[in-house]
Amino acid sequence: MDTTSSSTPAAEVLRRRSFAIISHPDAGKTTLTEKLLLYAGAIQIAGSVKARKASRHATSDWMEIEKQRGISVASSVMQMEYRDCIINLLDTPGHQDFSEDTYRVLTAVDSALMVIDAANGVESQTLRLLEVCRARNTPIVTFINKMDREVKPPMELIDEIETALGIEVVPFTWPVGMGKSFAGVIDIANMRMRMFKAGEDRITEDSHAVVDVNDPALKERLGSDLESALAEVALIKEAMPAFDREAFLAGRQSPVFFGSAINNFGVREILNTLVELAPSPGSRKALQREVSPAENKFSAVVFKIQANMDPAHRDRVAFLRICSGHFQRGMKLKICRNNKEVRTNNALSFLSQRRDILDEAFPGDIIGLPNHGLLRLGDTLTEGEQLQFTGLPFFAPEIFRMVESADPLRSKQLRTGLMQLGEEGAIQVFRPMAGGIMLLGAFGQLQFEVVSHRLQTEYGAEVRLLPARYNLARWVSSDDPVALKKFTQENIHRMAEDVVGASVFLASHKSELDVAQQRWESIQFHALREHA
Ligand code: GDP
Repeated sequence: MDTTSSSTPAAEVLRRRSFAIISHPDAGKTTLTEKLLLYAGAIQIAGSVKARKASRHATSDWMEIEKQRGISVASSVMQMEYRDCIINLLDTPGHQDFSEDTYRVLTAVDSALMVIDAANGVESQTLRLLEVCRARNTPIVTFINKMDREVKPPMELIDEIETALGIEVVPFTWPVGMGKSFAGVIDIANMRMRMFKAGEDRITEDSHAVVDVNDPALKERLGSDLESALAEVALIKEAMPAFDREAFLAGRQSPVFFGSAINNFGVREILNTLVELAPSPGSRKALQREVSPAENKFSAVVFKIQANMDPAHRDRVAFLRICSGHFQRGMKLKICRNNKEVRTNNALSFLSQRRDILDEAFPGDIIGLPNHGLLRLGDTLTEGEQLQFTGLPFFAPEIFRMVESADPLRSKQLRTGLMQLGEEGAIQVFRPMAGGIMLLGAFGQLQFEVVSHRLQTEYGAEVRLLPARYNLARWVSSDDPVALKKFTQENIHRMAEDVVGASVFLASHKSELDVAQQRWESIQFHALREHA
């Protein structure tokens, strides 16, 4: 990879594209990822994507998820070079129960690629991810996959995506036929059709024949399929807005492509779109000021922590998104939360199956810093300036359990484990203000199972998980400290602190929250907490 030291951050930023690939399980994310890497020439990485998927398919219980964590560090961030751009591709965890981690990954990218199964349309998990993209105005490129199957009518899909996204969608290509009679896609800008041929082995530029849509032989061969596709394209041109790059960059328009990942069809358009349309790293907001990626001084934010890769060593890898400057291995960095210094001699990059040792990196790139608990989610690292990047979300959990040590003599280990797993973001940990048993908050049952297993194997703390009476949590804040104090005192039995000491209001039913909101007008209730 050509990232020579003579480069400046300003020049390197322009050729960086960092994006996350999002989808509902089974829509074809793994397949598409593999093909993108293949097209960009990073073939050896594609193998590891497959290996990972193989292990994921075998995953029906938390034991397997444990094993899989080892593989997922290497393949959760991939870098490739295409048309002189360095493209960072961030995978989002596949399992539904780990969606919170996924949300945070979305804070580390500049655009997202949404993969939709054309037979299923917009599915539940995609919807939740989209909410995060929308909240951050992340530009979204849409790939409608599996056109080689009997799928929903394309117009219906477009409608569905538009409604779900709540933004305009602009088809760049349009399918002719589907399933067995899928013949290819029309490139709407130049009205030429790229012919589909099933098979996985062609990956060269000219591997699909391109034909003018007015070619009489084509009309004869495709008959009514081509006619109706052309009629739809005419309708699109008339009724739909033209593509507006500004609107795309502001997250208000999404270009849409149809294809079939498994057949290598439509993949190159996606890479070209990333290079030509997707944004390079932009400025990022910190509490103190906005930070431009072209600044010479280094800054980065921790958006993911992967703990205990090797339980014997209690190691953790903090994933940092570089926000500005030029990273060079060995440089000393300051953690702004506590002014502590971090050495970067063993920083990791994610170029291939191996976790390569990295020498330098630029804004938009992801680096991994192995550490022993020094770094937390949301931490900002700089060369010395006091900065705190904002925007790393923590979502209010949806299910709760009380957690107690099965062995009272090991409650110290339990506290340590809960603290660390909470900081890693594996689970949310709440300490009731009125005292008593600690609470865990999650999005899915599986998260509790993984955490209790990890508490036992990594911290030697066997736990009992008990039903909790809460079903809802909201972080509270107020401009009026006196009101906040009064609110806290009056509701002390419903109040808790999270791992960073932020106050949380707990309720059993939505109605209790409604009552509290009506009564305490000066208190704000947040379903999402940002930054450390
Ligand atoms: P993920 O869960 O989103 O990562 O999905 P995968 O990439 O593992 O794909 C799920 C299933 O769909 C696999 O069996 C793939 O072989 C299949 N698949 C992926 N892309 C296509 C496609 O374009 N056409 C068809 N027919 N199947 C596909």
